[in-house]
Amino acid sequence: MTENPFTSASFNQFLGAHKLMATRCANCAQTFLPPRAICPHCYGDQMEWVETSGKGKLAAFTLIYVGPTFMSAEGFDRNNPYATGIVELDEGVKISARLIGVDAKNPASIQIGAPMRVAFVDRGEGAARQTFLAFAPEK
Ligand SMILES: [Zn+2]
Repeated sequence: MTENPFTSASFNQFLGAHKLMATRCANCAQTFLPPRAICPHCYGDQMEWVETSGKGKLAAFTLIYVGPTFMSAEGFDRNNPYATGIVELDEGVKISARLIGVDAKNPASIQIGAPMRVAFVDRGEGAARQTFLAFAPEK
């Protein structure tokens, strides 16, 4: 996979293939998500793509009552909020993403530390298809 540059465009391409990829520094073995091309620890540029386990735990979350247009189009609004959160993966990296499969109308039911698993939300068809990162509670 070394032919993929270490950019968000590559990251999104992997998402489209339903893979949550991070970059790892071959020099100091630190893992980065979102991916980085240059290691901020040792300034090395010997990065490699690694597929994450997609498993982790919920570190923080918030509810969105007024979202972007495409979320309003899906029926989310003041009376029907959705949740986004930060998940700490088993690899030790944190990433923010939408949370699905949680009851955003009942935030007390959403537990910090709960095991989560990556999910991929596809929007649109054909060439217009876009994949968004999400996490759902581990069943
Ligand atoms: Zn490094």
